[in-house]
Amino acid sequence: MISTGLDLAIAINMAENRAGNVLSKAAFKLTKNKYLKKQYNGLKANVKYASNILARNGDSITIHLAFSNKNEMNAYVTKLRMYKSRYLIVCYAGLYDYCHNLFMWLMSSNKFFPIIFANPKVDVTDDIEKLSKYLVINKKIDLSRLSVPYILSNSVKDDIFTKGSRNDYALLLTSIAVEFLFFHEMTHIDHGHIDYLKNTVSGFETLYSLDDTNTASNQLHNDIIGLEQEADLGAAEFLFDSYWDLQYKGTLMKLFDTFLTSTDNLIFTIFYSLVWLFHLVQDCREYRGLASSNCHPSPECRILSVFRIFYVLSKNKNGNPDLVQKQFAVAIENYLATCEVSGITPHIKPNIFSSNSLASQELIRVEETRLRLLKELKPYQYSRKF
Ligand SMILES: [Zn+2]
Repeated sequence: MISTGLDLAIAINMAENRAGNVLSKAAFKLTKNKYLKKQYNGLKANVKYASNILARNGDSITIHLAFSNKNEMNAYVTKLRMYKSRYLIVCYAGLYDYCHNLFMWLMSSNKFFPIIFANPKVDVTDDIEKLSKYLVINKKIDLSRLSVPYILSNSVKDDIFTKGSRNDYALLLTSIAVEFLFFHEMTHIDHGHIDYLKNTVSGFETLYSLDDTNTASNQLHNDIIGLEQEADLGAAEFLFDSYWDLQYKGTLMKLFDTFLTSTDNLIFTIFYSLVWLFHLVQDCREYRGLASSNCHPSPECRILSVFRIFYVLSKNKNGNPDLVQKQFAVAIENYLATCEVSGITPHIKPNIFSSNSLASQELIRVEETRLRLLKELKPYQYSRKF
């Protein structure tokens, strides 16, 4: 129920962005996904933390997080009109459902069940052919099926989806994907992207995960790719900092004890979740005819830059860069094998590791754009008060 001016402003903003209506956090599956439920407190704390410590020229900001009921794989970040420095991040319900159904599907088969469970306790009949027929169409994931909440657990009668560890691991992968997108949007605010675009592009209001910037000029289009790259790097850094220290075993890490028993498992799980997230985003973009107006780097460039930042951070923060490299390779192999078995066209080429690969070349170009923009972004960036 709309009770305050702020709620009204959020509802109007969502209506203007054709983003549907506000969902309660319970309705956004936050209470059904024990991992995300836990992380939600982290997201809230993060929003609060940002609101407390981020400042520009002495002015503080406030960040709001809202969930939308729209059945679309999307999220966006914008600024609330009528307020001087209130930002809004909106996550769509479809974002959750697409990811969750996809991960449920992947976890349902022994062929897909990743290396983390080399000896799964639950032994199920391999049913992948039936599932692939059900979910793959024209060498692509059938997005119309993925958009229906809990379609797999409700429509496929086998009880594999409710068998403890598979179901749980799918929930964990989903929560990591949602968390990554949240931190991606946070970085757009933190690094001043929204204010920079608002001040340099007439009529600019919103950055979407699934962009629709057909009207953008070539230069703007190119610039936004650099900003998207930076948001991915920021999100990867947040994830790295939240998860890296398994030794610490804080409350969050304790919750993941069952699966994240080693740093290897942890790093594999993050890469595996994100490579599929980027695959899905690309599929959704192509499906909606947005491929040519793409303002994000390609899926392989995105996963490669997440890998690179993890590699660098683990080097700088006393981690183990070799382990990061190995688990990245395992996640990519697993992804490619899954695509082959299920008949999906992958968005990543096996030569992603080579410095001559298209992904590496694209990364160099995108990095150039990002570095060129850094100077222009400076006046819009937020800094920490302490
Ligand atoms: Zn973005």
